[in-house]
This record gives sequence, structure tokens and C-alpha cells, in this order.
Amino acid sequence: MKIFPSRTELCLVPLRDMVIFPNMVVPFFVGRKKSIRAVQEAMGKGKVLFLATQKQNKDEEPNQEDIYPTGTVARILQMLKLPDGTIRLLVEGNERANIVRYLESQAYFKVQVRAIEESPALDAGVDALMRTVIKEFNHYSALYKKIPKEILAGIDKVETPHKLVNMISSNIPIKVEKKIELLSQVDIRQRLENLVTTLIMETQVLEIEQKITSKVRKKLEKTQKEYFLQEQLKEIHKELGSDNEDPTGAKELEIKLKDKDLPEEIFQKCEKELKRLARMQPISPESAVLRTYLEWIVDLPWNESTKEIRDIEYARKILDEDHYDLKKVKERVLDFIAVRLLNRDRVKGPILCFVGPPGTGKTSLGKSVARALGRNFVRISLGGVKDEAEIRGHRKTYVGALPGKILQSMRKAGSRNPVFLLDEVDKMSSDFRGDPASGLLEVLDPEQNSTFMDHYLEVQYDLSHVMFITTANSVHNIPYPLQDRMEIIRIPGYSEFEKLKIAQAFLIPKQIKQNGLEWAKINFREPAILKIIRSYTMESGVRSLERQIATILRKIARKAVKKGVLLEEEPGEGSQEGDSQRAKNSFSTTVTPKRVVGYLGNESYQEKILDPKEKPGLVYGLAWTELGGRLLPVEVALLEGKGELILTGSLGEVMKESAQTSLSFLRANADILGIKPGFNKNRDIHVHVPEGSIPKDGPSAGITITTAMLSVLRETAVQKGFAMTGEITLTGRLLPIGGIKEKVLAAHRNRMTDVLMPEMNRKDMEDLPREVRSSIKFHFAETILDALLILFPERKSKPFKSSARAAS
Ligand code: ADP
Repeated sequence: MKIFPSRTELCLVPLRDMVIFPNMVVPFFVGRKKSIRAVQEAMGKGKVLFLATQKQNKDEEPNQEDIYPTGTVARILQMLKLPDGTIRLLVEGNERANIVRYLESQAYFKVQVRAIEESPALDAGVDALMRTVIKEFNHYSALYKKIPKEILAGIDKVETPHKLVNMISSNIPIKVEKKIELLSQVDIRQRLENLVTTLIMETQVLEIEQKITSKVRKKLEKTQKEYFLQEQLKEIHKELGSDNEDPTGAKELEIKLKDKDLPEEIFQKCEKELKRLARMQPISPESAVLRTYLEWIVDLPWNESTKEIRDIEYARKILDEDHYDLKKVKERVLDFIAVRLLNRDRVKGPILCFVGPPGTGKTSLGKSVARALGRNFVRISLGGVKDEAEIRGHRKTYVGALPGKILQSMRKAGSRNPVFLLDEVDKMSSDFRGDPASGLLEVLDPEQNSTFMDHYLEVQYDLSHVMFITTANSVHNIPYPLQDRMEIIRIPGYSEFEKLKIAQAFLIPKQIKQNGLEWAKINFREPAILKIIRSYTMESGVRSLERQIATILRKIARKAVKKGVLLEEEPGEGSQEGDSQRAKNSFSTTVTPKRVVGYLGNESYQEKILDPKEKPGLVYGLAWTELGGRLLPVEVALLEGKGELILTGSLGEVMKESAQTSLSFLRANADILGIKPGFNKNRDIHVHVPEGSIPKDGPSAGITITTAMLSVLRETAVQKGFAMTGEITLTGRLLPIGGIKEKVLAAHRNRMTDVLMPEMNRKDMEDLPREVRSSIKFHFAETILDALLILFPERKSKPFKSSARAAS
């Protein structure tokens, strides 16, 4: 129902930030003086007001042009004057109207307005639009929960489209400009369409808003949950009495890092990582990885070093104290030390490399060098190392990554200037994972090793203060670039006499101490030691000798315990302690050869390989192996056949060729050698080198194979007790060979009485221990024919033709 004629004069109250639609009942406060006056005026004139919205919200004194020209005629339902002078109004919107003109603007606003005609135009199009509006409004209200229930319930019952637009527009929180637009539009289709688009837009915005909210909520929930759990964990720790103020360990690490004198660059990196660690969850795998990494840095010796002893006489004393003989080796080591001491690490010399069979004291020499220089000692074995990562470590990102062997040992050393022994440099191999030798090359190169880079640590580490010593069994297998950097010192092996001395002066006292038997009187008789050496070991070094001595001492310890020496362990009454002392004092034992058998059981090496009888076709050669020299029996048999040469016993290519050369030499010289020319026409010759599973190679068995063949062909055995070595050429010359000392020691170990070798090896006699030289008879030959004359004495065999000498 219209409450005023279509053209009339009304008092105007400008509204801030709100638009009032017809049929809306709204309370609001009026505070501005001009507006209060307008309300008072309106109260006297039928309680009808015109409400229009001002364009700028903050405008305190808007002018005519600052007010939208469309507004709503409203009835005042209630007016309440408040003590502070403001008024609370309750109004009901009645009809939309446009301002025609302003009648008064000074004391208050008074305007002449014209109502907006609302055409009833209800057709199918408008009806469809109304339904769409209702549908969209329902969508919207499903998301926007603040629409009053009575509006939702009443929306279907609204009969007129204008009323529908008014009702919805007044209840949705849209911008004032939009509301004014909806209020001022005249055409009902336009109004409805405008409202539909507005509703769709608003629904979309609400949907996006909701999505964002739910995401944010989830995130918040997760962090809250974690926080909550962390707090719970703390409480649990407290309850258990393990209240941990520093759950990640970052604080403790920081203290340690600050205590250390780290290079600046590394310190900065650590600080960064520490901050990262402190922010991490203490139980997360990442924090464990980072903590381990930082612990590694803390534990490495960056600046810590031991004070070096720079006294060459002291060094000599220590080397003599720890090792028997090895004069030449010690001299060379002392020279090496002297050069290093003089140059104070400035001129970086080559790396020492001790080469020799196992158990010859290479490792213990390294230890002695460390002791002599007052440096710490560490050792790694490179045997079987295939992967460069074993030297340089794996990247941190690998699961369970660690630094490489080099830095692991540096941590063990605890100082940056240890003696670092790299054992078995000849046993490294390379495969698709990279060549460990190249990593080692950097470690050993004084030009590069001050900036050694480990993959795990990712920072440079200075290895230039380290003294590297390497060991190997054989020079051949050391990669050439490495060999190039090394000063090779050979330790060839010990004679029986040397072993005896080493056992008496070093191994036995050392093992007595290690087995806790210093108090006992243990007397190792010399023949007993020799018995161990001869019957229980077959080696160049003294490793198994030491082991056998240890076994005997353990058995003696057991015997002592049985006799009640242990009483001391349980001191009860005074008398018992006295007993134990007496038992200790009275305990003495002598180790005799017989007792050795009792302690060690059956002899492992009787002189079994040596056949006491001379046998045609069996000849003893001498071979060099990485484990030292060894006796190499060669057997030859003649079989019916077609002249083939059969070779068995895992022979290498060079050795096979050597056998071929021997045969050709015999065939070529059959005449002068007293054998039938064409001897192999209907015969096969089978050469076998026993212990067939052990691979053998090299040319030095040439003389042995030739002799064995000749022995079987002439059906004559060579002289008993003879061992030989030497390469032969097709014309019968004897060429010198290497490893003489090891080979002769092997002959000595095996009780050979005579050794035959090429004349050109005579010079190597100097290196042989005196007792070996005196107990073996040496024969030298320039040609194989000379050799054969020695090996087959004429009184026993058919004489060679007198032209033999001349022919060679
Ligand atoms: P390698 O490293 O050559 O295989 P080791 O250094 O392990 O041999 O030596 C084995 C044992 O033999 C050690 O107990 C060592 O002290 C001892 N040894 C070796 N040679 C001698 C020697 N010349 N004097 C004293 N003891 C020695």
C-alpha cells in the first residue's frame, strides 16, 4: 500500500553504507544534527521519511550531489532518543523513489520525490526469471548460512517479481553500489537478470572461499596436531625423568663446534646447518642425518696435532727396539725421515712403500715410524676395495651415507698429523663404480691433498700434514701412477736363523705379555723354536710362527690355571693369597721340541714334498709368489702318442711357452744331449706341475722343465737335494731372474742342499743371510748345457757328447 502521493515533499536522511529496500524493517542510529532535525520534522508530518544512501561512507556533511538520487520512502515505526542526543530509529521501507529536486539543504535535507512505477508485467519470461532467481538464491543460501529462516521459508510465496528482488537484495551482503543498482533499475527483467548474475557470482566466490578455508583449516589442524603431539612427548619425557631441553641435540653440537678451532668456511657452513637442525622435528629422519653429519665434523681433527719428535737418533733407537735386523730397510727409513724432518714438510717427498710377503713386519714398521716421530698411527686395508666411494665416501643424500675410509681413519687418529698406513695397495681393483686408485692418487699427491674433498663431508679437508706409508705384497699390481709416487723398500722374507732370533727377542716376549704370563718362568728352548719353524710353519714372514707361539702360551696359561695359580683372583683369607704367590713363584715350564708336538698336535709340514729317492722325471724348481718363495716340483712323463706336449697344473701362457721352448731346445740338440733324435715321434710328453689348482706363471721354470724332460728321456734322476731356477732361450742361454732371496730362502726352508741359477744372478748372493750362504751350495751356469753337466754327474749318467760345451 502506498503511503504517500506519487509526487510529494519529504525530509531526507542520508544513510551510510546501507541501502534500504521496500518491505524491509531496519533499525539504525541517527547522530548527525542535520539528520536529527530531518527526523524531528518528519515525526510531525506523518512519520514518513526519505532514505537515500550517500556515495562516500566517510563524508560527514554530504551535499546534494554526494547522495544517490534513488532511495526508499519509509515509515518511522519507532523513535527513541538516547541520553547522548542520538536517536535510534526503527523504519520500514515502503516504496522506491527518485529525487526530483532538493527543496532544502541547509538546516536539513528536504526533497521532492517521484515514486518509481512498478509495472505488473507478469509474463512467462518474467516467471522463468523469478524461478531462476529462487533457484540461485537457494544455492547461495546453502553456502551462506546467515540468511534469516523466515526469509528462506517465505521466498517461494512472494507473488510480485519486484518484491522478490527487494527481499533478496536486502538480505545478501553485496556491495552498496550493486544494491543501489538493483534498487534503481526500473525494468523488471533487467532487475531479475541483474540479481541472477549477482547471485551466481556470489555463490562462486563463496565456493572458492570455502575451499580455501577448508585447506587452511586442514593445514592448521595438522600443525596443531603436531604441536599437540610434541607437547605430549615432552610431557612423557618429563614423566620418565628424561626431560630433554635440547631434543635435536643442536645446542650441544653448537657448544662443541664453538670449542673447536674450525676453518672459517666450515664454521659458517656448520652454523647454517645447526640452525636448520634446531628447526627440525627431533624424531624426523632428516634431523638424524643432519645430526650425524655435524657430529662427523665435530669429531674430525681439524687443527689438533701431536708434537713431532724431531730426533733421528731417537728414531733409530725405536726402530731397533721394535725390529730385528732389517738393517737396510731401517737405514732407508731413517734417511727418509731425516729428509722430511729437514724440510719440515715443505718439500713433499715420495710416499714410502714396503713391499714383501705377509708377516715380514711391514705394518709393524709403520707403527714404529709413528712411535719414533711421536705421531699417532692409523691403518686401513685397501684389499678388495673396488669403489672410489670407499675412499671418498657417499653423498649425504644416500641412505646410511658415511665419509670414506680416509676421513673415518682421520677421526680415529684424533690428530691431523698421524702416520697413515695404507695396507695392500696392490689389492685394489676397479669396476664400473669408479677407480679407487684415482681417489688414492689425490690422497697421496702432496700438491692436491691439502684440499681433499670427501663426497659426504662436502668441505675440503687438509691431509697435507699426514705421513702416508703404503704396503704391498708385489709391486706388479700397484697401479702405475701410484707406483710413480712411491719409494719402494723391499722386505723379502726371513731365513730360519732370522726367524729364530725374531722369535726369541720379539715374538715370545710380546706374546708372553699379551697372554698375561709375565710372572711365569717360561723357557723356550732353541730346538723347540726351530721345531715350530720347521714343522708348523711354511712361510717367508713370521706371522704363523707368532700365532703358533701364542697357541703354545695359551695352553701354558691353561696349565697354570689348573695348578691353582688363579687363587689370587679371589683373595679370601690371608693364607690363600700366600698360597697363590707361592704357586706363582713356583710355576715354571720349559718348552722342548717334544712338548711343542704335545701343544700343537701333529706336524703340519714334514719334509713330505721331498721324495727321498731320486726319480727320473721329477725335478725341483723355485718360484716367487706374493706370499714369498716356494719350492716348485715339476714332473714329466713319456706316454705313447703322436708327439704332443701335454701341460697341466694351471700353467699361465708364459709358462706354457717356456715348456714349448724347452721341448724345442731338446729336439734341436738331441744329438749332443745323448737322446734319440725324433724321440717324440710316437710319444706324448706330459708336463705336470703339482698343486694343480694354484695358478703358476712366469719364465723362470724354463731350466726346471728342460731338466725334467731330459731326466725322463735319459731315464736318469738329477742329483738329490738340487733346486733350480732360470729362464732358457731357444739356443740354450740362461737368463737371470728376480726374487732370488725369496727363492733361496724357500730352498733353505725345504732343506735343499744345492741351488742352481744363472750366472748373471751371482750378484744377488750379497743379499742372502750368512747362515743360508753357508748351508747351501750354489752353482752358477751361463748355459743350459753347463747346468745339465752339473745336474747329471757323468759317473751316474750316460755322458753328454764331448761336443756339448762347444755346441752351446
Ligand atoms: P706384514 O704387515 O708384513 O704382513 P706384520 O707387520 O703384521 O707383517 O708382522 C707380523 C708380526 O711379526 C708382527 O707381530 C711383527 O711385530 C712381527 N715381526 C715381523 N718382522 C719382525 C722383525 N724384523 N722384528 C721383530 N718382529 C717382527
